[in-house]
Amino acid sequence: MTADPKFAEVFHSDNRSRLRADCESCFGLCCAALPFASSSDFAMNKNAGQPCPNLQADFRCGIHRSLRQQGFRGCTVYDCFGAGQHLSRHTFGGRDWRQAPETAQAMFGVFPVMQQLHELLWYLTEALNVPEARLIHEQLQEALEETMQLTQLTPEALMELEMPAYRAKVNVLLLQTSEMMRSEGMKSLNGKVKHPKSVGRGADLIGAKLRGADLRYANLRGAYLIAANLSGADLRGADLIGADLRDTDLSGADLTGSLFLTQFQINAAKGDAHTKIPPLLVRPAHWPGPGN
Ligand code: SF4
Repeated sequence: MTADPKFAEVFHSDNRSRLRADCESCFGLCCAALPFASSSDFAMNKNAGQPCPNLQADFRCGIHRSLRQQGFRGCTVYDCFGAGQHLSRHTFGGRDWRQAPETAQAMFGVFPVMQQLHELLWYLTEALNVPEARLIHEQLQEALEETMQLTQLTPEALMELEMPAYRAKVNVLLLQTSEMMRSEGMKSLNGKVKHPKSVGRGADLIGAKLRGADLRYANLRGAYLIAANLSGADLRGADLIGADLRDTDLSGADLTGSLFLTQFQINAAKGDAHTKIPPLLVRPAHWPGPGN
């Protein structure tokens, strides 16, 4: 089995912008496949596999322009890494679950699997563009190609994948990439930067006051930064994979050159016109613009 050449083209360079949701090409999969619970993010409960009542016949959202005002903030945060359009157009060949209801269960079932595979493609492509990780570029390339091949599987085969084990295998390489980049980066700072003791992998930094902190090359993998104040912080070179940035204040923070940051995380955080984000990410429409 080989990866679709057109799909493989995406990864010849750091072209991760293709790994972003294209809702126009998707059959509203996140709006039907995923569950949500009534909370500050969603105005109602919805079970997995149950289409949202706001999803229109053309698979567009009927309240797209007023999601936040109507209590659906969670919908403005979510990003599928392009898994929705890949399943809709490629895996299921453009047959939607309304025209072909017999496909609905399989389409909704494999959506979370494809989302994870695309998320891994995002990280692996980024890792391949980290010069400090050149010693493991061959393994990263192999992992990227294997992941691309997995995205070409049939729905039945996708359902059989052991995603936790596969994620763990890829994560070993991502962790090595992070360590190589951050150790080189810290060396370049000549000991001038000392991170607070509380900062580290999986750290509980909920509500932490880190305004203006120098967190260059910090290990923030999986850190809980919910509602933390990181305004004006320097996060260049910091590893942010899996960090929970819900309502984290990133006003004026510098995240250029940070590692493994995703659109989902940026969407969940609070920023402003002075927040610097990596070039492949899009400034969320709900962040205040200049003059606000
Ligand atoms: S509110 Fe709109 S974007 Fe959110 S799940 Fe429903 S249809 Fe989708």
